[in-house]
Amino acid sequence: MPSGKLHLVPLGGLGEFGMNCMAVRWGDDIIVIDAGLMFPESELLGVDIVVPDISYLIANREKVRGIVLTHGHEDHIGGLPWILSELKVPVFGTEFTLALVENKLDEHQLLDDADLREIRPSTRFILGPFTINPIQVTHSLVDCVALAIHTPLGVVIHTGDFKVDPTPTDNRLFDLHTFAEYGKDRSVLALLQDSTNADRRGYTPSERAVKGKFDEIFARAERKIFISCFSSSIHRIKLAIETAGEYKRKIALVGRSISESTDIALDLGYLDVPEGTLIHAGQIKEYRPDQVCILISGTQGEPMSALSRAAVDNHKHAKIERGDTVVLSSRIIPGNEKGIYRMIDHLFRREANVLYDDGSSPPVHVSGHASQEELKLIINLVKPRYFIPIHGEYRQMRIHADLARSMHGAVGQVLMMESGDVLEFDELGARKIDKVPVGRICIDSGSRGDVVEDLVIKDRRHLSEDGIVLAIIAINKLTGSVESIPEIVMRGFAAGSENGFTQELRKVIATTLDNSTPEEKADYGVIKEKIRADLKRFIVKTTSRRPLIMPVILEI
Ligand SMILES: [Zn+2]
Ligand SMILES: [Zn+2]
Repeated sequence: MPSGKLHLVPLGGLGEFGMNCMAVRWGDDIIVIDAGLMFPESELLGVDIVVPDISYLIANREKVRGIVLTHGHEDHIGGLPWILSELKVPVFGTEFTLALVENKLDEHQLLDDADLREIRPSTRFILGPFTINPIQVTHSLVDCVALAIHTPLGVVIHTGDFKVDPTPTDNRLFDLHTFAEYGKDRSVLALLQDSTNADRRGYTPSERAVKGKFDEIFARAERKIFISCFSSSIHRIKLAIETAGEYKRKIALVGRSISESTDIALDLGYLDVPEGTLIHAGQIKEYRPDQVCILISGTQGEPMSALSRAAVDNHKHAKIERGDTVVLSSRIIPGNEKGIYRMIDHLFRREANVLYDDGSSPPVHVSGHASQEELKLIINLVKPRYFIPIHGEYRQMRIHADLARSMHGAVGQVLMMESGDVLEFDELGARKIDKVPVGRICIDSGSRGDVVEDLVIKDRRHLSEDGIVLAIIAINKLTGSVESIPEIVMRGFAAGSENGFTQELRKVIATTLDNSTPEEKADYGVIKEKIRADLKRFIVKTTSRRPLIMPVILEI
């Protein structure tokens, strides 16, 4: 066995949900697996995205050979613009993953400088001292791979995200054979496996399990059908389009994210839409309500998304009317409950039939992550010397570790790691040797350079450099009307003559209120976010400064 040391260094995603990123190092060579983001919790006011601290990579920048992506979900690729602006390295991913990456880098004007290299399942490539074999897996997204990384000490298998779906809608099967091959000759040093659903018994249903529910819905609906799912859920979009076709309904796409991902999937042949089936959003009104199905963005109740706006009757093309059916084909991400249920309330007020993931069968949504029996299956096939749970909060990784420990014949040793731990392997064994700095970097997507260490610092910086603008609006709870002229309070921020500027801010608020429906005005979460966004746009445009903006609604 060669002398030398292999290091696994997770920089994010172990012990937290999101921002998956792991460095694999042999001597003077480092490769990085995934570069994800985390969506900020709602308390992170004004912060757009959260990415991992990559000080370790920056300190070793001349050693980094490239970033290898397992699949195109945001928690695996969303941090790329930020990481690539710090490190100029090639990025490896499958065709579909790179198409999503291209879109993302283009938005940040980083595409021209990027070195993107396509990889294919079962086609090995060499990166520094490593030979990497991408293995096809199934998940809620298409074109996903696990990575078998051949190192001088043995093979490290990183599963990426997966479930074992025997009937994926694209018919690209999970490559169980290759996992078994690696296990057969006991060559696997370590298995790093997705823990997201380690606390769920049994098997995760196939993506096709949703078809039964879709059939039920389409058979019953007498008016328009709205289906909302994550824009990356290509399997789900495919099932919706297929079912709409069977029931002779036209399909309209509403919302930027779902239109973009559908375009990519059409381009790459993952979706096949018969000629004349797709219509523009503007054409919806030309058809009878029972002739259309609308795929719409915004399952998480995001205040500015198409579905949230349609729910308060403020979308130009997506009109939700009495008797329409609205399907939320996604899970409720913890932390988003409030916004989602608020949106669902509005949908009920429109007298729509609303279906969401309530545990009934057949399911309206299925998870993309493996449950316990699938996790055990892969462990049995791979028979690793070391097993390390990845991708999950601490309790999920812990349950996953216990599960593996119970499989005596299949696993050597089980090791728990968290983001920042350095796990070292050599001919004598494996041990944690060190800690590297990790953490969350908050980014205001308005400018890539606008990185802040954490929320406290961001608030302080806002206050000290750019000040604060408070807009106090009194709304009559009964009538929904604005009772008096909005009060504007500014601290540490002044522009031109204070009086004149205050007047202009009042005008912005008045315009926002004029353009809002009574229902929006009655929903303080929505109206606050609209006022904040409009004020921010106006203030940045006229002053180039970014004060902390806080609308306050007084109920009277
Ligand atoms: Zn994923
Ligand atoms: Zn993930």
